[in-house]
Amino acid sequence: MATLTGKVALVTGASKGIGAGIAKELASRGAVVAVNYASDKAGADKVVNEIKANGGKAIAIHANVAEPQTIGPLVDAVVKEFGPIDVLVNNAGIYEFGPLENITPEHFHKQFNVNVLGLLLTTQAAVKQFNPAGGSIVNVSSVVVDGVPGASVYSATKGAVDTITAALAKELGPKRIRVNSINPGIIETEGTHAAGFIGSDFQKEAEKRTPLGRIGQPKDIATATAFLASEDSAWINGQAIYAAGGFTL
Ligand code: NAP
Repeated sequence: MATLTGKVALVTGASKGIGAGIAKELASRGAVVAVNYASDKAGADKVVNEIKANGGKAIAIHANVAEPQTIGPLVDAVVKEFGPIDVLVNNAGIYEFGPLENITPEHFHKQFNVNVLGLLLTTQAAVKQFNPAGGSIVNVSSVVVDGVPGASVYSATKGAVDTITAALAKELGPKRIRVNSINPGIIETEGTHAAGFIGSDFQKEAEKRTPLGRIGQPKDIATATAFLASEDSAWINGQAIYAAGGFTL
C-alpha cells in the first residue's frame, strides 16, 4: 500500500522497538526515512539495511533529543539528504516506573527531558523545515495518560504529550500540518523486555484487561502510525488514538 510515496519521514528513536517498526512500515509504504538513534548505531544501521534490502531508502542519524544542541543538526541532516520533511514521528522515549516515595528530581527531569522537551524541540526544528504543502506529525504517547499507579512521572510525560498534540494541532493547522498522538498499550519491545514487563504478572494483568487478549507488537503501532502519517487520515487532527486492543486501565 504505497500511501507515502515520495514522502520524507523522520522517526526519532528508531534503532529498535516501536520506532524501528514505524520506520520500516513507513518505508514499505514508499516514504524515504531518517532513522534517528541515540546510542544504538548498530540497531539503526540494521533498520536502514532492512529498508534498503526491501527496495526502500533510509539513513541513520545520531542525535540525543534530550540534548537540545543535537536537534538542529539532526533536522538539517534529514533535509540535506532528502529535502523538506513531510512526516515527523516523535517516538523517542524512556520509561522508568517508581512509587511516589522514590521520585527524585533526577527521575523527573530525565523522563521529561526526553519525552516532553525533546519532543517539543524536535518538533520546533522540524516544522521550520517542513514541506510548505504541509504534512503530519505523530507523537507516540501511551495509554498511561489515564494514570498508572507507581508511574506518575512517566504517566505525566505522556499526559503532557497529548496536551502538546492538542495545542500544536491548533497552532500548526494553518500551516496544513496535522498533529495526532498514538497511544499504545504494552508492546513487546527491547525496552519492555529490559524493564522486565514481558513474561511478568504485569503482562498477564494487561492481557486480562485487553478484549483482544494479548499485548501488542511494534507492527500494531506501525500500521496505525502509517495511517496517521498518510493522507488517508487527512481529516483527523488533534486526536489521541488508542492502539491497545481495547485495553482499559
Ligand atoms: P525501546 O525499545 O526502549 O526503544 C527506545 C528507542 O528510543 C530507542 O531507539 C532509543 O535509541 C530511543 N531513545 C531513547 N532515548 C532517546 C533520546 N534521548 N534521543 C533519541 N532517541 C532516544 O522503547 P519502546 O518500547 O519501543 O518505546 C518507544 C516509545 O513508545 C516511547 O516513547 C515509549 O514511551 C512509547 N510507548 C511504549 C510502550 C511499550 O509498551 N513498549 C507503550 C506505550 C508507549 P537508542 O537505543 O539508540 O539509545
